[in-house]
Amino acid sequence: MTKLVDIVLIGSGIISTSLAILINILEPNWIIHMYEKLPDIACESTNVWHNSGTGHAGYCELNYTPKLSNNEVNILNALKINKLFNTSIKFWSFLAKEKILDYNKVIYNIPHISFVVGDNNVNFLYKRFNKLIKYKPFNNMQYSSKFSKLNKWIPLIMDGRDKSQKVAATMIEHGTDINFSEITRQILTFLRKKNNFHLYLKHTVINIFNRNYYWDIYIKNNDFNYTYIVPTKYIFIGCGGATLLLLQKANIINKSDYAGFPISSQFLINKNNSIVKQHWAKVYGSVINNYIPISVPHMDARIINGKKFLLFGPFAILSTKFLKYGSYFDWFKSIKINNIKLILHAGINNIHLVKYLLHQSLMSKSSKINLLKYYYPKVNPDDWNLIKAGQRVQIIKNTVNSYNKLIFGNEIIHSSDYSLTAILGASPGASTSVSLALKLLKIMFKNNNYYQNNWKDKLKLILL
Ligand SMILES: Cc1cc2nc3c(=O)[nH]c(=O)nc-3n(C[C@H](O)[C@H](O)[C@H](O)COP(=O)(O)OP(=O)(O)OC[C@H]3O[C@@H](n4cnc5c(N)ncnc54)[C@H](O)[C@@H]3O)c2cc1C
Repeated sequence: MTKLVDIVLIGSGIISTSLAILINILEPNWIIHMYEKLPDIACESTNVWHNSGTGHAGYCELNYTPKLSNNEVNILNALKINKLFNTSIKFWSFLAKEKILDYNKVIYNIPHISFVVGDNNVNFLYKRFNKLIKYKPFNNMQYSSKFSKLNKWIPLIMDGRDKSQKVAATMIEHGTDINFSEITRQILTFLRKKNNFHLYLKHTVINIFNRNYYWDIYIKNNDFNYTYIVPTKYIFIGCGGATLLLLQKANIINKSDYAGFPISSQFLINKNNSIVKQHWAKVYGSVINNYIPISVPHMDARIINGKKFLLFGPFAILSTKFLKYGSYFDWFKSIKINNIKLILHAGINNIHLVKYLLHQSLMSKSSKINLLKYYYPKVNPDDWNLIKAGQRVQIIKNTVNSYNKLIFGNEIIHSSDYSLTAILGASPGASTSVSLALKLLKIMFKNNNYYQNNWKDKLKLILL
C-alpha cells in the first residue's frame, strides 16, 4: 500500500490553504497533500477578480444588522463577524512577522461606508449606528446626513445628487480591501518549500471511500488521464461549490437532507482612470432582497496587483454550474430522487428569491447601469464593462423545524468519526477563513485530544 498520508486537502482555495498552514505550524512533520483540479491555485471564488475583496468586519454590510419586526436593529451578527475577522487579521499579522506573508501587498486600509437614501433607511442607519458605536471595534464609526460631509467621504456618489433627497452614511476609516488569492498564493509558496507538503495541480479527486481506520482518495491525473488511490488518515473537502457533489458521491451525507442552488455573479468595472481616482471607499447600500447576501450592491475601490480599480455589483445570475470552471451539468448531477422534493419545496417557499434571481438574470447592461445610477448619479455607461465573477452554491437543508431551510452562511459537515470534514455554503468565507480553519481543526481532531493537549496553548500565543 502507498504510504499513509496524514491529511489530504481537496481544493486550493483560501480555506484549504488556511488549514494547511495551521497544521504545518502545529505539526511540522505531518505529511500534507493538496489536490487541485485546475492548472493553478485559487482560481475559483478565492480569485481576486471573483470576489469583492471586502474584509467583512460588520462595519458596512447592512445585511448583517437586520431590522426586527419591532423596528429595532439586531447587531449580533455584525459583532460576531467582527470577532471572526479579527482572528484572521491576528493570524495574517503573525504570518507577516514570520515572513510568510507580505501584509502590505495583500491587505489595504480603506474606509468602509454604509450609504442609504430615503426616510426609513436613514432612520434605520441612525439606529444601527447608535447601537454599534457602544462596542469597541465600532467606537470610531462616524455618522452623517449632511451633503457637505458626505461629499468629502464619497464625492462620486454625491456629485449631481438631488439635494432634496434624504441621505445618510456611516464611515469607519480602518476597513480593509483584501487580495484573498494573493494571501493563498504566498502561503502556498511558503509551504511548497517544505519536503512534507505536496501540491498536485491538474489532479481531480473523483471519489472517497471509508476503509474504517483510514480513507482512500481516488484521484484523476488530468494530464495523463489515469486514476490512482492515496490512503489518508484525515480529509478536508474544500471544493467550494463542488463540495456537495463529492459529499454525495462519497455517501457522507444523507442525500435527502441536502441540495444545492447555484448562483453566479457579475461586476461592473470602470475603465476610466480619472473616475477611478475619485473614489476611495467600499460603499455598501441597503439590502434589496432580504434573502441573499449578494443582494447588497456595493461600489468598491480595489487595489489589484498594485493598480486601483472601481467595481460595482455583484449582480446575481441563475446558473447550473457549481464552479466558474465547472460543468453546466453540475446542478443536474446533484439532483437525486431523494432530494427532488426538497428542491421543489425550497423553490415554492422561496418564490421571492426565485423571482429576484430571474429578474437579476434578465437585467440588461443598461438596467444594471440604472441601478448604479442610484449610487452614482452622473454615471457614464461607456466607462463601464461587465465582468464575470465567482460562483456560489447556496445550500438547501432538510431540517427538523423547516423542511427546506436555505443556508446563506456555511455549514461544517463531518463524518461520524470526525476524520473527514467539509464546508458547504460560502459567505463571508474568505474574511473568516482562519476562524473556520480553527473550527475545523477542533472538530477533526476531537477524538484524539490533539487540540486540547498540544495545540491550544501554541495557538493562543500565535493569536495574541
Ligand atoms: C461574487 C462573490 C463575492 C464575494 N465577496 C467576498 C468578500 O468581499 N469578502 C469575503 O470574505 N468573501 C467573499 N466571497 C466569498 C469568498 O470568495 C469564498 O467564501 C472563498 O473564496 C471560498 O474559498 P474556498 O477555499 O472554500 O473555495 P474556492 O476558492 O472556490 O476553492 C475551491 C477549489 O477546489 C477546487 N476543486 C473543486 N472540486 C475539486 C475536485 N474534485 N478535486 C480537486 N479540486 C477541486 C476548485 O478548482 C477550487 O480551486 C465572495 C464570493 C463571491 C462569489
